[in-house]
Amino acid sequence: MIPFKAPVFEEESFNCPHCNAYSHQTWESVKSYNGQSHPQYPNYSDVSNLMIAWCTHCSQYSLWLNDKMIYPEESGIQMPNPDLRDDIKDDYNEARSIVNRSPRGAVALLRLCVQKLCEQLGQPGKNINDDIKKLVEEGLPPDIQRALDIVRVIGNDTVHPGKMDLKDDVETANKLFELVNIIAQVMITQPKGIKQLYESLPEHKRKGIENRDKG
Ligand SMILES: [Zn+2]
Repeated sequence: MIPFKAPVFEEESFNCPHCNAYSHQTWESVKSYNGQSHPQYPNYSDVSNLMIAWCTHCSQYSLWLNDKMIYPEESGIQMPNPDLRDDIKDDYNEARSIVNRSPRGAVALLRLCVQKLCEQLGQPGKNINDDIKKLVEEGLPPDIQRALDIVRVIGNDTVHPGKMDLKDDVETANKLFELVNIIAQVMITQPKGIKQLYESLPEHKRKGIENRDKG
């Protein structure tokens, strides 16, 4: 499977913001037409810095001003935490691109993100319940456990048959993106930052700390 690729200015191919297919994009500059036909004056003038990319898969277009996509509107959801594993980032970005059309689909992908995140945190990654239980035993902060459980449970129809209909609930789905990033921030980014700071201490200071801990 080709990993998800977010739309990038003047790239030949990316996952289309309309149909989500990984598809070839045909780039054209946008011109304005003055509605008249005169042999001496051109009817068309270039609109500066405005480009259009046609998706060869669904024939819909995205519109780019300078190098930013202005149509269709970006979902406005934050980007994935950069410390997440690459395959988790791909799932997250794919969820981000479909959330307005399919909150259920986005939530399913985010649940997959959480399962893989447990794996990144050193768990087997086979059974999400067991993994979270194990992480709790290893001292997972209660808030983070709650965040993991929320993403795990929401959208899981076998847990809440008929209770929750996510078809139109973009807002709930949007909140889950935030939770995945909070979990990554607390469990991966913060410990990494503290470790780097500790390692940057002069050796005699570190020795002092380690000796105190032994005593
Ligand atoms: Zn398309």
